[in-house]
Amino acid sequence: MKYISTRAANTPDIERKLFCQILLEGLAPDGGLYLPEQYPQIDDAALTRLRKVYHEQGYALLAFEILSLYIDDIPAADLRALCEKTYTTEVFGTGEIVPLRHVEDGLWIEALSNGPTLAFKDMAMQLLGNLFEYELGRRGEELNIFGATSGDTGSAAEYAMRGKKGVRVFMTSPQGRMSPFQQAQMFSLMDANICNIAVKGVFDDCQDLVKAVSNDLEFKRKYKIGTVNSINWARLLAQVVYYFAGYIQATESNSQRVSFSVPSGNFGNVCAGHVARMMGLPIAKLVVATNENDVLDEFFRTGVYRVRGTADTHETSSPSMDISKASNFERFVFDLLGRNGARTKALFADAINTHGRFDLSADPLFTKAASTYGFVSGKSTHANRIQTIRETWNQHGFVIDTHTADGLKVALEYREPGVSMIVLETALPIKFASTIVEALGREPECPAKFAGIEALPRRVLDIDADVAVVKALIAKECA
Ligand SMILES: *Cc1c(COP(=O)(O)O)cnc(C)c1O
Repeated sequence: MKYISTRAANTPDIERKLFCQILLEGLAPDGGLYLPEQYPQIDDAALTRLRKVYHEQGYALLAFEILSLYIDDIPAADLRALCEKTYTTEVFGTGEIVPLRHVEDGLWIEALSNGPTLAFKDMAMQLLGNLFEYELGRRGEELNIFGATSGDTGSAAEYAMRGKKGVRVFMTSPQGRMSPFQQAQMFSLMDANICNIAVKGVFDDCQDLVKAVSNDLEFKRKYKIGTVNSINWARLLAQVVYYFAGYIQATESNSQRVSFSVPSGNFGNVCAGHVARMMGLPIAKLVVATNENDVLDEFFRTGVYRVRGTADTHETSSPSMDISKASNFERFVFDLLGRNGARTKALFADAINTHGRFDLSADPLFTKAASTYGFVSGKSTHANRIQTIRETWNQHGFVIDTHTADGLKVALEYREPGVSMIVLETALPIKFASTIVEALGREPECPAKFAGIEALPRRVLDIDADVAVVKALIAKECA
């Protein structure tokens, strides 16, 4: 399997890379995103075999089977060992790894949030940690991950990389702006290779620091700076596996179809669903659920993709979906346009840069987003989330988090007879406790392993939003 950029012109000399060549990279050099040259196909017999693998050998082996279709440059025995080391009962809390919770007839919630940081990002990041350590060890190299987080990404990255050989993490976050639980989770880490940096300012100030450091090519090279953001192909690939596991658990025969509803921000999670569907997994609809930051909902309803400015980006009670643009969206548009790299480039490099938007509403291809690719969408407001959390508690007796509430609210608008709907649970309620208190009048349950976390000692450096200060800090740690 080889990988190409979404912006590459389709010529015979098109640059094609192997998995490990793109593993540690973000964007392709031309600014595009990497995708496999073609999607491996899972026919009926192969799906039956994967069903058996999941039931008899478990999630780690299912992951190994699916990853093997996309990775040619890691020996099979090593890849299998990496999967087995990643997806354990110990790390994910259950033997099923991603158990389905039955809500009512034809409606399920797939639990993706029982990993170390209680959000679905662990599903991919835990594997990434092991892949990075493996590949860096093989090359005899080191990597310094420098990132910005408003919560879930940073903690998932730190819990994936803590104690890993050859990797350090420098994670900036806006001082005092993450939820108390998120702050406690990150700042209580004492591992020598984890460095928390609380920046005076907002999330955008943190992102500006990351951009400034990345734009200093000499510094970047000298200190081997890398990222782990959601455009990383390996993260997306790891997520494909739980679409298969969800489908297998919700069905008995391959003739059944299911739909997935996905709380969406950067389009990474639901893009993995798109990949699974392109491989032939019998998915009816992919429901893109957004909050008030409805860039994606607007596109799927109207064909207009319009990037928002800072003033237009709302702080909501499902904060991990508060985005101004959806960084993985280009991958789907590339497929929608018949894998036309030149046209993808014209939209994302030219139209977005000059006008902040593009409009496919008049293009016949746009109708294929729904008819051929199964995409539908919807959005929710704070009031919708509060109501969904309350109704779920009153009718079914369990508590869901605000992001999962976005997904459930929109899922209910798209149910079809005979097609099970699976809502992806992207975080546990304890991460966003204040909204749960608002909805239910009481604190959500805290998993036993996190009891007392807010009282633990903390390790965090407070700094001004100053590039020179950040650079000096990285240089000192790496000395
Ligand atoms: C990151 C995140 C999302 C959004 O996922 P994308 O892949 O960016 O679409 C949704 N919910 C939670 C809890 C998250 O952490």
